[in-house]
Amino acid sequence: MQELHIDPGVPLASLAPLTTLRLGGPAKRLVTATTDDEVIAAVREADESGTPLLIVAGGSNLVIADEGFDGTVLRIATRGFDLTGSRLELAAGENWSKAVARTVEAGLAGVECLAGIPGSAGATPIQNVGAYGQEVSSTLTEVVAYDRRRGEVVTLTNAECDFSYRHSRFKADPAGHVVLRVRFTLEDAEGLSAPIRYAETARLLGVEAGDRVPAAQAREAVLRLRAGKGMVLDPDDHDTWSAGSFFTNPILDETAFAAFVDRVRERLGPDVAPPAFPAGEGRTKTSAAWLIDKAGFTKGYGQGPARISTKHTLALTNRGSATTADLLALAREVRDGVHEAFGVTLTNEPVMVGCAL
Ligand SMILES: Cc1cc2nc3c(=O)[nH]c(=O)nc-3n(C[C@H](O)[C@H](O)[C@H](O)COP(=O)(O)OP(=O)(O)OC[C@H]3O[C@@H](n4cnc5c(N)ncnc54)[C@H](O)[C@@H]3O)c2cc1C
Repeated sequence: MQELHIDPGVPLASLAPLTTLRLGGPAKRLVTATTDDEVIAAVREADESGTPLLIVAGGSNLVIADEGFDGTVLRIATRGFDLTGSRLELAAGENWSKAVARTVEAGLAGVECLAGIPGSAGATPIQNVGAYGQEVSSTLTEVVAYDRRRGEVVTLTNAECDFSYRHSRFKADPAGHVVLRVRFTLEDAEGLSAPIRYAETARLLGVEAGDRVPAAQAREAVLRLRAGKGMVLDPDDHDTWSAGSFFTNPILDETAFAAFVDRVRERLGPDVAPPAFPAGEGRTKTSAAWLIDKAGFTKGYGQGPARISTKHTLALTNRGSATTADLLALAREVRDGVHEAFGVTLTNEPVMVGCAL
């Protein structure tokens, strides 16, 4: 077999510069892979030697402990954008938001409302990224991945990825696969977007939910809405030194939802109804941002170096000198405060490395 190049790597004093939160302690070794073969070689080497392995791409969904990571950190920096008709294949390391812009320029629909989501294409299936009425699971057809247990490259169909709200088989089993390539089939709607599903986007565009608009307009509207909430990366704006939404929107069964509505009425008045969206089979999704705000954790909440964003209650941010311990203390305070107020337990959306809520 041909000998593959493995970057010998370098010790890293701090993982903070690799994450959008700018948090995380040292790592034993940082390896950067720019081809699929280099990714596979580095993963094999770690697995065969029993070395703990952390995959990092854009670092926009990671909370890493102040103690750091005692193993190999593999940074995915592969490149590849291949558009044939309406079929798109992206290398894992491609910048997601730039790839979205290119599909819109090519007149294709299906991911235009996912513009502005930071990070890499390869991470999009991990938590089935979604925003403004779209999720990658609606257009993703296949994931090409290195199966760490079988030691071979496999192609997983959409159904085999077990997608659900901000979840997939990859998030459930982080040691299972490393994503190498992601394939999508987009819609050629002659430059129009997919039907606009999200009320806020429809309002800004001056259309009804379900209408189509030029895909470029849909993308720009989403970018405007996101920027207003501090959800587009800007190194000069500490409101974007976050991992995006820190908590997922809770999904409640009928009994839990009824108890929650009672708590809302007791606390906020008999006429107050919480946000409620059907989430399949007697289940209802409510809004984590609303819960946090109504529990008293308003925009800008916090005294220390970790605070709630001044633009969105769902983003916990590093104001410049925070540690992961500071951020987790704030996250626990918010989680516990929401539970005390409404009996609903919030769950973290970002991946925790060496730490937990
Ligand atoms: C300002 C801001 C706004 C955001 N808005 C949204 C939003 O609207 N919707 C949304 O869904 N998310 C959002 N996010 C979260 C984040 O951008 C996404 O989850 C994104 O897909 C993470 O990509 P990444 O490359 O940064 O992944 P990383 O943070 O580097 O990694 C995240 C996880 O995926 C794993 N991983 C990464 N690449 C691979 C790979 N190739 N193979 C296997 N595992 C891999 C990592 O090990 C880790 O567990 C936001 C984040 C920020 C900072």
